[in-house]
Amino acid sequence: MKILGIESSCDETAASIVEDGYKMISNVVATSMHEHAKYGGIVPEIAARSHIESIIPVIDESMEQANINWSQLDGIAVTYGAGLGGSLLVGVETAKTLAIAKNLPLYKINHVEGHVYANFITHSNLDGYNLPEEQPKFPILALIVSGGHSQLVFFEDHFKYKLLGQTTDDAVGEAFDKVAKLLGLPYPGGPNIEIAATNGDPDKYKLPKAQLTNKYDFSFSGPKTAVLRLVQAEVGKSFDFPSFKLAELLNERQKADIAASFLRTSIETLVDKTVMAEKEYNPKTIVIAGGVAANSELRKQLTYRLHTKIQYPDIKLCTDNGAMIAALGCFKAMKKTTPDDPYKLQINPNLSM
Ligand code: AMP
Ligand code: MG
Repeated sequence: MKILGIESSCDETAASIVEDGYKMISNVVATSMHEHAKYGGIVPEIAARSHIESIIPVIDESMEQANINWSQLDGIAVTYGAGLGGSLLVGVETAKTLAIAKNLPLYKINHVEGHVYANFITHSNLDGYNLPEEQPKFPILALIVSGGHSQLVFFEDHFKYKLLGQTTDDAVGEAFDKVAKLLGLPYPGGPNIEIAATNGDPDKYKLPKAQLTNKYDFSFSGPKTAVLRLVQAEVGKSFDFPSFKLAELLNERQKADIAASFLRTSIETLVDKTVMAEKEYNPKTIVIAGGVAANSELRKQLTYRLHTKIQYPDIKLCTDNGAMIAALGCFKAMKKTTPDDPYKLQINPNLSM
């Protein structure tokens, strides 16, 4: 069973072929991240235009890398939500067209559910991937943390899951990106906050942790605004001073301490809730997915505080990729899920779990 996975929900144009839900035989990712860097965040129109330019070359390269032809494929899986409308459209329309032209079954994939399936890839003939020895065992608790998502999901089995909690405002990666911008650190914010924080005191500033009605929900907008107020207070400026000029008034010590304090607070929030869910749901495996899974403080705290086996995908499979979409597509095909109609499939930018 060989499935081509196509992913274009944000700023990565990606295609990959996965065999039987565990073996990655190609994986190609083009990103427009560098084009967004000067704006400090993703510009949807730039991302969509870049997908249009990259999608065909990326798919062609993934077919070449896997060394197969279209008649050897068993289906196409594509992310249809959640994500940026313009970006999703490029992947979905391409997948629909290919499914019709090549007469292949089409499977629509929920991007967030897809992230979890990066953990099911245990083999590859490609070099440079650090893959787990075995697939995660159900029940699985998944923490999905990226530039667009912060979710805790409990999977009883394939396709049988329950959303425990999610962000009520900004995703954690987005908060990292915005705080980094405020501190004058480059985009993407997460890795740069991590670097700045290495020289800082994580206990220097006390930032708030949101208390929400659903104990598994997250909120990162409050802590982000708290950082803005803190910076204004540190440099002696009021709220009417332009926020993009604040960073130049901070010294390196202040930047390091603020980065370290924000990092500690946001990571603690993620870990606290994962620990609570572990106690209540008793999973066999805990999987972490999304770009923020690269964060070493998150990994350290999770390893220290959780008792269950934790699995992280290779860093290259933490961020958006086609392999996770293809892996989930394989399970859909292997479990005989009815394919989607290529003449009717629509994007769903606000798709939830
Ligand atoms: P994704 O949305 O999955 O493509 O992941 C991108 C997001 O992950 C961005 O918001 C980054 O700031 C964030 N990110 C990447 N590396 C790290 C890191 N080491 N620590 C925290 N966040 C990170
Ligand atoms: Mg993602």
